[in-house]
Amino acid sequence: MKKHNFSAGPSILPAAVMEKAATAVKELDGIGLSLIEISHRSKEFIAIMDKAQALALELTGLAGKGYQALFLQGGASTQFLMAAANLMKTKAGYINTGAWSDKAIKEAKRYGEVIEIASSKDKNFNYIPKGNEIPAGLDYLHITTNNTIFGTQFHALPKTAAPLIADMSSDIFSRTFDYSSFDLFYAGAQKNMGPAGTTLVILKESLLAQMNEEVPSMLSYAVHADKGSMFNTPPVFAVYTSMLTLEWLKEQGGITAIEKHNQAKAKLVYDEIDRNSAFEGFAAKEDRSFMNATFNLAEGVDGSKFDEMWNAADISGLKGHRSVGGYRASIYNALSLESAQQLVDVMQQFEKTL
Ligand SMILES: *Cc1c(COP(=O)(O)O)cnc(C)c1O
Repeated sequence: MKKHNFSAGPSILPAAVMEKAATAVKELDGIGLSLIEISHRSKEFIAIMDKAQALALELTGLAGKGYQALFLQGGASTQFLMAAANLMKTKAGYINTGAWSDKAIKEAKRYGEVIEIASSKDKNFNYIPKGNEIPAGLDYLHITTNNTIFGTQFHALPKTAAPLIADMSSDIFSRTFDYSSFDLFYAGAQKNMGPAGTTLVILKESLLAQMNEEVPSMLSYAVHADKGSMFNTPPVFAVYTSMLTLEWLKEQGGITAIEKHNQAKAKLVYDEIDRNSAFEGFAAKEDRSFMNATFNLAEGVDGSKFDEMWNAADISGLKGHRSVGGYRASIYNALSLESAQQLVDVMQQFEKTL
């Protein structure tokens, strides 16, 4: 039996997707060849890439609205520098909500002036800074919509006249948004979309005309957009598996349906964190993430018994990030309500042992 997988990333994928991906590695759709041994220029793979891009735009409600979807490589970490390399002329604004924003800021500084609009570092990033004054004249404003490590999430977007860029690695396709509020957003596949190896970038086509020209080809959005994500050999397995996950998501009823499912799981877990005397939540309540629920042991509680119990209950990946400690339940799209309930049951049983 599969374990209840609460891993923060790489993380759980739908069982049906795993099944189809495994089959395609042996043989793709009865063509007598494996997915990973055919040319990326074959009609079979081109159809897969086209479908993955079309589904990404359809699910975010951006089809026909002047956006393009790219499947690139190098992880979200490469987007930290790519965004700046292409879009920074003189200065850009960043809201620092944790380790990933911090890394994005570090890379952007190579390309121009970074204005740190706000930061929640003073409280170990357990909240989202609000009501920030955004200066005029920025080349763009960058945010991290969901902070995977700290378990916080933007529930309202900052208002800005500058192009809005977002790292959505850990909450893309998990909630309804007006995705057209963003000029560019990106996500490493391995949190909510597929295996590691590809990064989805969705950008406004009109932005392409404003980009810096002296950018190396592999780092240029214009080059990748012009070549339909086929400038060089794409990571075919990661793109295919992401395409399957997006198909699965569409079958579930799209983002509107998965959002309800995600909210139900989050409510189950957070209600228990708040009720249970053995635990306390880490993130400020109003900024809690619907994808990564972070919590610690209450003062004076020894967690060794709890660790034994959740391991024995076939729960995996619950340990918190080293910078926060405690526990982190990642409840991505593919995690079932039953798995969330399993965790709640173990938390309740642990409380009874105290
Ligand atoms: C995991 C993660 C990253 C890093 O992604 P890579 O694909 O490993 O580079 C960046 N940002 C956020 C919000 C993440 O959760």
